[in-house]
Amino acid sequence: MIDLHSHTNESDGTCSPEQLVHEAARAGVNILGVTDHDTFAGFDQAGGAAREAGVELVCGIELSTKLHGHSVHLLGYFLGDNGLQGFRHWVLELQAARRDRNIRLVQRLQDLGFDITLAEAEARGRGMTGRPHFAQIMVEKGYVSNLRQAFDDYLDESAKGYVYRREPQFAEGVEKIRQAGGIASLAHPVRVKGDVPALMPELCEGGLNAIEAYHSDHTSKDTALYLDLAKRYGLQVTGGSDFHGDVKPDVKLGMLQVPDDLLDKLREA
Ligand code: AMP
Ligand code: FE
Ligand code: FE
Ligand code: ZN
Repeated sequence: MIDLHSHTNESDGTCSPEQLVHEAARAGVNILGVTDHDTFAGFDQAGGAAREAGVELVCGIELSTKLHGHSVHLLGYFLGDNGLQGFRHWVLELQAARRDRNIRLVQRLQDLGFDITLAEAEARGRGMTGRPHFAQIMVEKGYVSNLRQAFDDYLDESAKGYVYRREPQFAEGVEKIRQAGGIASLAHPVRVKGDVPALMPELCEGGLNAIEAYHSDHTSKDTALYLDLAKRYGLQVTGGSDFHGDVKPDVKLGMLQVPDDLLDKLREA
């Protein structure tokens, strides 16, 4: 069974890279895509456990990009060979931009009267510290009653604690992945703000390779729609659970019927 979308605690998942591999093996997933947000650190550490458990890893990354001012997630696969140094360097720049934002975000939250430090947030998020970690701290300190409220009232793009961070445009993300010899796939299209069928020509413009038709947020109707769009626009298909561990307990590795032959087609492409 294949599952091409999962996260470790190197981004916002709760399993260590080793635990993720063990969870995959237990769920009967023998081919696992590790697709942490903006980092390869989880994939890099999972190799040993994967060899022991007989799980084949697919190197992936999930980039946060912007399209018309909205966040659109982009998956990059097979970034293991050509041009990898350049791509990894670019990812490190994205991480630096995030850290710079975090410094300004802490200042903003302190100005709003919250007792929160960068060290506290980085103790949770390490290299991938982001708004979800600030939100967790706000809940624990009783400033808000839940994560949702932390975002709605303070951290969301339209809320009063929001601090800008440079994020690549969708087309730039596609270009970087392609330059590095990878496959670029539109992640969980159901979450894209806007009319995806209408946006397809624009999304495909820069050479998008694939669309994630199988995803735990998709109904069977959604999946049928995205499979149809893939056919119409000549795109490959990817799929995965988007497993995050305990923070999304309903999402399990291998919960979707992702066709095995999809990976061979991706490799050919
Ligand atoms: P960052 O990359 O630090 O700006 O944080 C982005 C992450 O925050 C996203 O990947 C989501 O996981 C999470 N996020 C963004 N907006 C919301 C929201 N309105 N509610 C809950 N989580 C959100
Ligand atoms: Fe995530
Ligand atoms: Fe995502
Ligand atoms: Zn994801």
